[in-house]
Amino acid sequence: MIGLMGGTFSPIHYGHLLMCEHIWEEFQLEKIIFMPAKIPPHKAGAQVAGQQDRMEMVRLAIMDNPHFEVSDLEMQREGPSYTVDTLTTLKELYGPKQEFGLIIGADSLVQLESWREPERILALAALIVASRPDTLESSVIDASDKLREKYGARILHSKHLAMNYSSTEIRERVKKGQTIKYFVPPAVEAYIYEKGLYK
Ligand code: ATP
Ligand code: MG
Repeated sequence: MIGLMGGTFSPIHYGHLLMCEHIWEEFQLEKIIFMPAKIPPHKAGAQVAGQQDRMEMVRLAIMDNPHFEVSDLEMQREGPSYTVDTLTTLKELYGPKQEFGLIIGADSLVQLESWREPERILALAALIVASRPDTLESSVIDASDKLREKYGARILHSKHLAMNYSSTEIRERVKKGQTIKYFVPPAVEAYIYEKGLYK
């Protein structure tokens, strides 16, 4: 199974990276593809860095990891990034036998039904769900049960305990001139300052 890790990654941080490394190990994934979103349908209007910057920060963050990869599939495609389209394209590229596991945080799981074509998403990929400190365990169980019943979703729950990091917090810290050391890899930190992002 190949893991697919979508996100805005504005910026990518150790919460994303450590979670993916754990999940790679826990479910013995072949590799994980990081997929920075072009115009994130849920986030239009929020403060996000430009596409090239977000892409470059992901590239810098995963450079030293042989089983992590970054794809510009969503950034190259016209219009907003829908997971259902991305999975369809990946299935075409890798062949119908290749299994995919869509890695999502618990906060995204509880919203999954509001995504475009949830039924097709769940037919194309299994879900690999990581808990986040700010999402109640009971709401994750409820959402999982519902998706299994309604769509026959295949859902794997990671034992990894997410770190309480978010890109939002990192952007705010940069804005206030606070440290982001140990929030993001050193190369990403240097890139943010060099480009004057999130000021
Ligand atoms: P923002 O604060 O801008 O929403 P974010 O930190 O939530 O950013 P995203 O790019 O929105 O990062 O997240 C991409 C995916 O990573 C989502 O599925 C989200 O649930 C998950 N994720 C984000 N932060 C963490 C974390 N600290 N631990 C585990 N998963 C996370
Ligand atoms: Mg988020």
